[in-house]
Amino acid sequence: MFGSLSIRARLILSFSVLLCLLLAVAAVSLQRFQALTDKTDILINDEVRRVFLAQSANQHAQAAAICLLKILQTPEREKRVPLYAEMDADNAAAQLAITELGRNVAVPAVQTEVDRILALGKTYADVFQETVELVELSGPQTAIMHFQDKTGVALASLLNATRNLVTKHQMMTQSEVEQLRRDTASARLLVILLAAAAFLTGSVLAWIIARSIVVPVQEAVDVAETIASGDYRKEVPMGRRDEIGALLRSLAIMRDSIGSREERILRLAYVDTLTGLPNRTRLLELFEARCVDCAGVLFILGIDRFAPINKALGHAVGDQLLREIAVRLKGALGDSEVVARLWGDEFALLLNPADKPTIEAFAQKILVALREPMSVDGQRLDIDASIGIVSFPRDGTSITSLMRRADLAMNAAKRRHSGFAFGSELGDEPAHEELSLIGEMREALARGEFVAWYQPKLNLAQNRISGAEALIRWRHPEKGMIPPGRFIPFAEQTGFIREITPWILKQAIEHAAQWQQSGMPVVTSVNLSTHDLLSHALVEQVKCLIEQYALPPELLCLEITESALMDEPELALKHLHELAALGLKLSIDDYGTGQASLAYVKTLPVHELKIDRAFVTGVDSDHRNAAIVRSTILLCRELGLSVVAEGAETAEEVDWLRSVGCDLVQGYRVAKPMPVTDFAAWVSDFDRSA
Ligand code: C2E
Ligand code: MG
Ligand code: MG
Repeated sequence: MFGSLSIRARLILSFSVLLCLLLAVAAVSLQRFQALTDKTDILINDEVRRVFLAQSANQHAQAAAICLLKILQTPEREKRVPLYAEMDADNAAAQLAITELGRNVAVPAVQTEVDRILALGKTYADVFQETVELVELSGPQTAIMHFQDKTGVALASLLNATRNLVTKHQMMTQSEVEQLRRDTASARLLVILLAAAAFLTGSVLAWIIARSIVVPVQEAVDVAETIASGDYRKEVPMGRRDEIGALLRSLAIMRDSIGSREERILRLAYVDTLTGLPNRTRLLELFEARCVDCAGVLFILGIDRFAPINKALGHAVGDQLLREIAVRLKGALGDSEVVARLWGDEFALLLNPADKPTIEAFAQKILVALREPMSVDGQRLDIDASIGIVSFPRDGTSITSLMRRADLAMNAAKRRHSGFAFGSELGDEPAHEELSLIGEMREALARGEFVAWYQPKLNLAQNRISGAEALIRWRHPEKGMIPPGRFIPFAEQTGFIREITPWILKQAIEHAAQWQQSGMPVVTSVNLSTHDLLSHALVEQVKCLIEQYALPPELLCLEITESALMDEPELALKHLHELAALGLKLSIDDYGTGQASLAYVKTLPVHELKIDRAFVTGVDSDHRNAAIVRSTILLCRELGLSVVAEGAETAEEVDWLRSVGCDLVQGYRVAKPMPVTDFAAWVSDFDRSA
């Protein structure tokens, strides 16, 4: 019953009960105290006063009698007069005490005694007066006789009665004192009992209240702690109707809303809203959670030419396309495998471990599924994808390095149009030192640590320097001179090459213009990477620079590798045509190391072909290299291309190249790459000695 009351009502009730108990204790104590005080008053006012009056009447009556006896024994009248005065005073005091005794008698038992004393007092007063009158009228002898017969007897009776009254009163007082003592003791006991009862009731009430509040509050605390720990399933007790019940109901509401909000936040944090697939963060978490010691396969899948599709058909179609791709990828996976969308058109697949043929078959299966035409917004779309594949722990154990490697493999697959590529076939990851170089490149450029060196190209027919290749160097403040092979590949991977190429182009064009203006026209070559060739800004940049430095365009040559043409051949070719249209020269670098055939090169607007060092080394003695170089030179002549032999280190190699009609030679035999400050002087020296 108590539990159904509100805490407020419970507290009010309990404190009211305690207050009533305290009031009762105080009232009973007061009442008992008042009764004791009244009794003491009666004792003092009535009993003691009456004893005192009776004794006073007794003493004064005796004193008056003694005075009368003295009067009776005094024959001279004059001597009796003062004694009369003394006797009258005692008589008056005795009569006054007797009169006072008769007033306000409360106890009936005493009333009789008092009435008797009053009567005896009167009798004594009358016979006393008779004796006094006889003394004066009849003489002392007659008065003595009268005193003995009557007055003495009356006095004795009066004295006896007053003594009796005193004794009676003393006995009564004693019994009343006894009664008073008993009353005091019982009053003390009653007050103690009442106080104890109040204390006990208070304690019981306090315990009940504390229990009825503390237990449910503890329940509420438990619920709150469970919610705080992230467990939203615990049942909240709902039966109570008091304030704690209200608190528990609020906690239940709070738990539900926190739960649903947390679910929404988790969804936003871990799910890609477009496709409903796990996002990158979720993938990383899943990898960490289940793949610490385990093995598996990671695919990074990118959609080929997604950007142009998005651009041409609009983002709404692009979004639908991504959703359809997500559905197809999900459909291809088993229960324990995961597909996530990383960003844009990139997806990651976390797969169970398998051998290489199985992985290849699965990659093919995914590609076939994606190549199946898609119908989006009533339009038929054909898409293709490229997949980078890594296996863990073989290719790495951290998800970041695995993803980087798989990403590189995917880019390689895109370049090669091979559908998929394995990360293990890419070569080694950048070493720690190289990673730190990657981080430093931007500042190095800003601090002017890069320098352009030049390697001369010798025209074999004219025996003069007709060209030079600009080769970048990094003058590192601590590590010394760093060759391009140690940072250019990473600049290409990270896209930083977009900053380097404009810089070296500006250097080379400026230097070439200076040489030309000083009467030393040198065709200066600059190396381009894939990024540069696909950049829409490149043609405009080159055009601006040659105009700015007033360099005749035919004195600038741009070197392109075969692989740079493979990523997006159409776009690369378009840019090549635009560059050729500017009037500058184009050269195929490292020819022979890639897949390109001369038949393909023929279709490009290029002017020069640089045979890679691998074929030039030992060309005078290695008949196979000699055959390749000789036939290439012959074919190039047919096609109108000039040929540069790279990496000739010996006089024999140079002589051999001259003998077969090679146009230009670039190699250590002629000169190593040198700083720009040395170049002009070196060329003059060479021409003079030639
Ligand atoms: P590359 O364009 O094929 O340049 C020729 C490389 O062969 C240069 O190496 C040059 O020093 C080296 N070489 C020339 N003759 C000989 C020889 O007789 N014997 C030997 N052993 N080597 C010879 P370097 O300067 O280390 O450059 C390496 C590569 O780095 C270049 O190959 C080029 O692909 C790239 N590179 C250099 N500078 C740049 C640049 O400014 N931009 C871009 N994108 N790539 C650059
Ligand atoms: Mg080159
Ligand atoms: Mg080369």
